[in-house]
Amino acid sequence: MTAPVLIWLHRELRLADNPLFTHNAGRPLVVAYVLDDETPGRWKLGGAARWWLHQSLASLGPALAAIGGRLVLRRGAVASVIARLAAETGAREVHAGETAEPWLRRAQAAVATTPGLALTLHRTRLLFHPEAIRTGGGTPYGVFTPFSRACLARGLPAPPNPAPSRVAAGPAIASDRLEDWRLLPTRPDWAAGLREAWTPGEAGAEDRLAAFLHRAIDGYAEQRDRPGIAATSRLSPHLAWGEISPARAWLAAEARGGKGVRAWINELFWREFAAHLLWHHPHMAEQPLRPLFARMPWRHDPAARAAWQRGETGIGIVDAGMRELWSTGWMHNRVRMIAASFLVKHLLIPWQDGEAWFWDTLVDADLATNAASWQWVAGSGADAAPYFRIFNPDLQAAKFDRDGTYVGRWAGKPRRPIVDLAAGRARALAAFRALGEPAEGAPEGSP
Ligand SMILES: Cc1cc2nc3c(=O)[nH]c(=O)nc-3n(C[C@H](O)[C@H](O)[C@H](O)COP(=O)(O)OP(=O)(O)OC[C@H]3O[C@@H](n4cnc5c(N)ncnc54)[C@H](O)[C@@H]3O)c2cc1C
Repeated sequence: MTAPVLIWLHRELRLADNPLFTHNAGRPLVVAYVLDDETPGRWKLGGAARWWLHQSLASLGPALAAIGGRLVLRRGAVASVIARLAAETGAREVHAGETAEPWLRRAQAAVATTPGLALTLHRTRLLFHPEAIRTGGGTPYGVFTPFSRACLARGLPAPPNPAPSRVAAGPAIASDRLEDWRLLPTRPDWAAGLREAWTPGEAGAEDRLAAFLHRAIDGYAEQRDRPGIAATSRLSPHLAWGEISPARAWLAAEARGGKGVRAWINELFWREFAAHLLWHHPHMAEQPLRPLFARMPWRHDPAARAAWQRGETGIGIVDAGMRELWSTGWMHNRVRMIAASFLVKHLLIPWQDGEAWFWDTLVDADLATNAASWQWVAGSGADAAPYFRIFNPDLQAAKFDRDGTYVGRWAGKPRRPIVDLAAGRARALAAFRALGEPAEGAPEGSP
């Protein structure tokens, strides 16, 4: 009997345009997803991500079964679970997606060196391998604009492959029951807003893309910074979980054509840039890219941090954003920047605290993008906004939410601000000056 091939799914929870399936067409497959709460350490999945994962697997399992396959669910330290699955099924080949996440890279390296197992990695989540885009001098990029130009110069991606119409199932082995993983919140059930806002899974991703291309892409460049209107795609959780490939998204936008396409593709390149940075700086999720920032005199203020998390800072646009996040698991990009800036600058609370909260509450939580974005806002990133540029949240609201639609929708009753904006700004600037290095460079434009 032909030995089956083990497909190790992680964040490519789709059938269409998935090289793990196309590459292994016609071979008996054992398709596995492993829930690992051990290896990632502090980066184990947060609450909102668990909710999404449950829904996404609940959608993928039956879709795979409908074409003859079967989704096997297992739990534990992923490298040993994969080795065990291979031993159980007689698989000698493992196929998985390339990743920039350091813990997963280590797990992949462990599988690759397991005797009797061969690991093949495929590009399932990104447009380019994080090593592929390099400067003329052969070094990784640290600045976005030339990186994005280099991405564009590579030309369009290959046309996406359709979903397989048939999959040959490998040996029938035991699978956990999804319900037993308890990924959904019970008491309290905080997920009502998430259920209302999202349809996880491949079909939901395609619907979201189609709606955006039909309705909003023409106005994208002008309106993407206005949180009060649905001007962006909201494709981020679908991309983060790999329910749609970035190549499919890019080519669909090109095929639709018209205004807004270039600006939108640029955002897909920001996603690539974040993965590129994490690949080359594996400690980026924990440590500042500019080492100087390790000496920043951050404040330890649990009460202020809790007020920020709950949307009770008294600053309308910040509170609106934090409440949108709590309610739907998502926040508009402009507001993410404003809320993040308020935390690290006006409150002088470490960016890692904000990053951890976003990690727990975002349905699109992505290690690379989250870390790169927080460092960009904090000023500690390679290509970051200079620290001394401090967003005034009220002026940002006046500019991007002129008629108050967004703040009115989410912020609730006005409260007394927990910090005076001018005093918070002065304190942040003093802290920065205390680092002993003048700000240098100008920003490259915001993500
Ligand atoms: C502090 C902070 C933390 C963030 N954390 C995350 C995160 O964990 N996961 C995540 O996916 N995005 C994160 N972002 C980036 C951005 O806010 C979201 O990707 C975007 O709001 C998603 O909305 P959309 O799908 O409608 O985007 P669109 O405007 O429609 O953009 C299309 C796609 O491009 C990608 N993209 C858009 N903006 C960015 C960006 N600034 N950087 C990288 N990729 C981008 C996303 O995959 C997005 O779906 C963060 C931003 C900030 C400021």
